[in-house]
Amino acid sequence: MATLLLIEDDSGIRTSLTRALTERGHVVSSEPAGMLGLQRVLDEPPDLVVLDLGLPDVDGLQLLRMLRPVSSVPVIVATARDDDAATVAALDAGADDYVVKPFSADQLDARIRAVLRRTAGDEAAPLLSVGDLVVDLRARTAELGGRSIELRPREFDLLAYLAARPGEVVSKRSLLADVWQQPYGGADKTVDVHLSWLRRKLGETADAPRMLHTIRGVGVKLVPAGELPVQLVPPGRPEPPA
Ligand code: CA
Repeated sequence: MATLLLIEDDSGIRTSLTRALTERGHVVSSEPAGMLGLQRVLDEPPDLVVLDLGLPDVDGLQLLRMLRPVSSVPVIVATARDDDAATVAALDAGADDYVVKPFSADQLDARIRAVLRRTAGDEAAPLLSVGDLVVDLRARTAELGGRSIELRPREFDLLAYLAARPGEVVSKRSLLADVWQQPYGGADKTVDVHLSWLRRKLGETADAPRMLHTIRGVGVKLVPAGELPVQLVPPGRPEPPA
């Protein structure tokens, strides 16, 4: 679901697109003129703007040029048939995509979803990967070796925090402050308990760590599996089973 703003002077198109896009799960508002639209973008930034290029008060292209210095909101322009020059100019002026009139609501909806997918990727990377672990910050899910791990909210926060700092030793104090929002300290035991739950879900133990390593008296760190040198077995002791 996205919040959309239609800037379109044709009331028939406005009404039918509003209905069609609402039916497709979007929250749609509209403005019948360019300057009203510009004001609306600034007052209530939508997720995406559908901008008609032929507007009564100000050319859509001009509007785009006014908009771009102050907003990076994704814009799809609606252009008249066979107006290649206007389409190219709109893309040059910062439009993200275009549709040629007359277009179907399905086509516009597909373009909207594609642009939103593309522009979402431009924000801070929502995927963190550490070795075979992948943490999706937006979906709040994690996978290890392609299999999803069931995590409770705090376990997810803890894993995401560590995955954002691969190889860095993080103190329990930092974890309490940043993950538990307890900057003045609290029960270390809380951290320990969650770390041991997390460990189990990562399929490892404190004695045989794979990714999550405790540095005694300092903190913990998450590293890609297999990155640490394999510990040598002291002579005279039996080899552990492979
Ligand atoms: Ca128009």
